[in-house]
Amino acid sequence: MIGIFGGTFDPIHYGHLRSALELKELFELEHIRLIPCAQPVHRNLPTTSAEQRLEMLQIAVKNQSDFIIDAQELQRAGGSFTFDTLTALRLVYPETPLLLFIGSDAFNDLTKWFRWRELFDLAHIVVITRPNAALNSLSEFFKLRLINDKQILRNQLAGCLFFQQITQLAISATAIRGMIAAQQNPRFLLPDAVIDYIYQHQLYF
Ligand code: ATP
Repeated sequence: MIGIFGGTFDPIHYGHLRSALELKELFELEHIRLIPCAQPVHRNLPTTSAEQRLEMLQIAVKNQSDFIIDAQELQRAGGSFTFDTLTALRLVYPETPLLLFIGSDAFNDLTKWFRWRELFDLAHIVVITRPNAALNSLSEFFKLRLINDKQILRNQLAGCLFFQQITQLAISATAIRGMIAAQQNPRFLLPDAVIDYIYQHQLYF
């Protein structure tokens, strides 16, 4: 199984990295792909360029064999759609179950995503929940796909919905950007090498 962890990563931080590593181990994945979103369609455009966000990701996971950085969304023109990304991955991995990880906030808006129903033809969706997180009640479409045994994910290429609770670190990219703008020290929330890059390129000031 291959895991897919997308995000704007503006910047990448230990909340992302720790969760991605835990997910890789929990689901015994062959690898987990960190996929930076070039041009988000459901949120404001970042002030940093997609290339800068990709470079920070590369710096953060340098020499880490647990992660693969997949820059495919930077190579496509226009908005970054998960449907296109999964379609491309399915062509490369026709026989491997794909797990798309999304946060519970994103899941609550999933029905606004481009061709959202078809995402289940391409991958399983694993919703990452915080302990005791409130989720909107599930529609019939989701209830039909909901499974409680994660072993089932291995036996099918796509099509299931699974909820996985993890202890997320209370770190957010928004808070980090705010700290830098306020000239506070963001150290220990993200890798030092990424902080050096941010200062060198004068990001978020
Ligand atoms: P922002 O504050 O700019 O919205 P963010 O820190 O939430 O950014 P994103 O790049 O939007 O980061 O998130 C990418 C993915 O990482 C999403 O699925 C999100 O739910 C998840 N994520 C974000 N922060 C954490 C965290 N602290 N722990 C675990 N997962 C996280």
